Amino acid sequence: MRALTKGIMLLGASAILPVAAVAEDHSAPNGEKEANWSLVIHGGAGTISRDKITAEKDAEIRAKLTQALDAGEAILAEGGDAADAVIAAIMVLEDDPNFNAGKGAVLTWEETFSLDSSIMEGATRNAGSAAGVSATKNPILLARAVMDKSRHVLLSGAGADAFSQEQGLEQVEQDYFATPHRVKALEAFKLRMNAAAKGSAKAMGQDALGRDWRFGTVGAAALDESGNIAAGTSTGGMTGKRWGRIGDSPIIGAGTYADNRSCGISATGAGEYFIRVGVAQEFCTRVRIAAEVSESPPSAETVQKTADAVIAEMGALGGSGGIIYLTPWGQIGYAFDTPGMYRGMASSAQPKSVAIYGDE
Ligand code: ASP
Repeated sequence: MRALTKGIMLLGASAILPVAAVAEDHSAPNGEKEANWSLVIHGGAGTISRDKITAEKDAEIRAKLTQALDAGEAILAEGGDAADAVIAAIMVLEDDPNFNAGKGAVLTWEETFSLDSSIMEGATRNAGSAAGVSATKNPILLARAVMDKSRHVLLSGAGADAFSQEQGLEQVEQDYFATPHRVKALEAFKLRMNAAAKGSAKAMGQDALGRDWRFGTVGAAALDESGNIAAGTSTGGMTGKRWGRIGDSPIIGAGTYADNRSCGISATGAGEYFIRVGVAQEFCTRVRIAAEVSESPPSAETVQKTADAVIAEMGALGGSGGIIYLTPWGQIGYAFDTPGMYRGMASSAQPKSVAIYGDE
């Protein structure tokens, strides 16, 4: 049971957590951009708190988020393309076993790996997605191949695997994705699901069914010097998913969206709820309309309030999670209703920063 009021989330009966709301405004008062480029990334949201992460793990995650920002920055600072920067940042996280994407992905109920990814470009609103793929080492590259090399937006399953091979993308055995902590997570999930089937479902609460069983989806959004925005997301989905379940990450408009008129966004959280709200497009559309109605760029505060409102709407349906966003006017921010979210931002106007917990 929880309620979301202005900036405050009630978790259960006692814990009160602030909804994280961080917006950096790098736009000039007249709307002229100060930041020539900007980049924002996430590595998943969830019940991430200091008591659950060792100092070593904390440092490891921060170093990897920094490395992902560095990879994107190397492209953007040289005048490179937003989509290239998004892909470079995401690939760093896909290759790292700490994140639920590429290596380190969560397991399905059948003890396999089934990966989802998407990318979108804001200039053309071209997009590409892959759902339920099994052998592509870096699923974000497959999303890009779907966008650039096919007539389609979303490919799935065996067909997506075949297209990936045709495109010459690196293929790996399923074992490549496996990590001991994800194997353990599936075992624990199955135990709890079986307990639920025997009638103790109430005691398990929502966490057992979803919230604790997926951290580390990765995503990025970038604004390049030409004013183009791109965004992308990559995930293994949710531990113990069955029946070909697909989450929001490969769904354009739910987990990912980019539109040069409004925003770039990548989401992470309980995918079903993000799909139902259409979180990514909902956010971009609200920002675009705010800009159109006032005939000027919305303030950082307005954009952040919009992000918080969309997360609250998703939370009101029963979901949880977060988003990262940036705008064509230089604002960069996050919004999430979970205790933590792995995240980071950088731009030509500010030093890069990374964070894990809700209170930083
Ligand atoms: N949104 C992802 C999914 O539902 C999972 C996550 O972001 O943690 O598949």
